[in-house]
Amino acid sequence: MDRLADDLAAAIGTEHVLTDPDLMAGYTTDWTRRYRGDAVCVARPGTTAQVADVVRVCARHRAPIVPQGGNTGLVGGAVPAGAGVLLSTRRLRRLDPVDTLAAQVTAGAGVTIAELHAHVGAAGLEYGISLASRDSATVGGTIATNAGGLHTIRYGGTRAQLLGVEAVLADGSVIARLGGVPADNTGYDLAQLLAGSEGTLGVVTAARLRLRPAEPHAVTVLAGLDGVGTAVTLLAEIRARAPGVRAAEYFEAAGLTLVREHTGLPAPLPRAYPAYLLAEVAGPADHAERLAGIPLPGDAAVALDLPGSAALWAYRERHTEAISAAGVPHKLDIAVPLARLAALRGALGDAVRAASAPSGPPPLMIVFGHIGVGNLHVNVLGPDPADQAVDEAVLRLAAAYGGSISAEHGIGRAKVPSLRLNRSPQEIAAMRAIRTALDPAGLLNPGILFT
Ligand SMILES: Cc1cc2nc3c(=O)[nH]c(=O)nc-3n(C[C@H](O)[C@H](O)[C@H](O)COP(=O)(O)OP(=O)(O)OC[C@H]3O[C@@H](n4cnc5c(N)ncnc54)[C@H](O)[C@@H]3O)c2cc1C
Repeated sequence: MDRLADDLAAAIGTEHVLTDPDLMAGYTTDWTRRYRGDAVCVARPGTTAQVADVVRVCARHRAPIVPQGGNTGLVGGAVPAGAGVLLSTRRLRRLDPVDTLAAQVTAGAGVTIAELHAHVGAAGLEYGISLASRDSATVGGTIATNAGGLHTIRYGGTRAQLLGVEAVLADGSVIARLGGVPADNTGYDLAQLLAGSEGTLGVVTAARLRLRPAEPHAVTVLAGLDGVGTAVTLLAEIRARAPGVRAAEYFEAAGLTLVREHTGLPAPLPRAYPAYLLAEVAGPADHAERLAGIPLPGDAAVALDLPGSAALWAYRERHTEAISAAGVPHKLDIAVPLARLAALRGALGDAVRAASAPSGPPPLMIVFGHIGVGNLHVNVLGPDPADQAVDEAVLRLAAAYGGSISAEHGIGRAKVPSLRLNRSPQEIAAMRAIRTALDPAGLLNPGILFT
């Protein structure tokens, strides 16, 4: 083990190889505190060549490598399961000038999404991925998880933003396709293959990203409703009148209560509702007038400027931190066809209660999500974090309703046994074959996606 750390230090500098457990602690525990790991050391290469050196040293020592960006992942994928090297990409901070002609930019894996937004925003452009973890989540991590987020309804997930990647493969070789030629039909699209591969096929070191013209904010609406079915119907009306819907988020009374307790925010509406829809429309200002004609079943708050919009967004965006402050949650992010969302929501309570140990504390279920893409984040506080019964019950339900067991967070360590609920044995075999071809020794993120 000492030889491994010494060889890494020789490759990238002693100061960039952390072995002190106190310094490593922030890297080896995940954001939810549900997953903890152990690493021989944390290696922090500063260039693509150094990433390749780290991978080659690890391969020589047969040491597993766990790539990590901002460590905001919610399925335990960036935290080592056993002794190995945690490869932090945070020092890969390349950020090229924005190509305004092509509306593209090349960014290093360690650049955060917030930094990317600021950089491209200064050029009048916008990056299509936005998520509440934007201050820490990185370009590399969002590619590796194919992150979705708040604007997926309008721009798609990370795959839809990706024009090319630079990455280090398990043998230390570097593949790079950062030319940004959108019309390029020359064989397998390796960037798309790496997107969503959760660190099992290569270490992404940089990416060429598609940008969009920045759209002016038109209106943000927070409506109080009686449940998810009404939210889906209202969203359809909003979309029909204002095609520039950029975000459509759902949350419920239990989550709002936690957020208000955690933040001290006042009630958003004069009276309380079981459920809420938060919709943001971008584009021409006349969208606001068009929305004014929609009959709402309850109260609504409307913001026409950015500070007002940010105030409404806080009720949704602060859910994850408020839940984390209340305990270590079971976190599931599922998606079903919009037409089945209300039925699924109706069945969730019974499924969670039935899966919770009768002798344990009663489960507190907090449901919110990107409703425009059929996503619900199901968070359950109470049952022992190590007990998988609640997780399995929720994922089974999603699959039974024809949905996905992972709308956006990935499989990671958390959902490995459940992959079979969504993927056939043939699909899993094909995925394994790709993995084995690119990483025969299984050094990159072992235990993620597959056992
Ligand atoms: C408050 C909060 C809100 C969130 N909201 C959303 C949301 O709306 N939508 C959403 O999709 N997710 C969301 N997430 C989850 C998380 O932010 C995303 O999964 C994000 O993409 C992770 O990025 P990261 O840089 O933190 O990656 P990490 O957590 O460090 O890693 C995630 C996975 O990617 C791999 N990886 C990281 N970097 C690389 C690399 N350079 N090359 C290869 N593999 C790599 C890791 O091994 C791991 O498997 C949220 C999380 C929090 C805490």
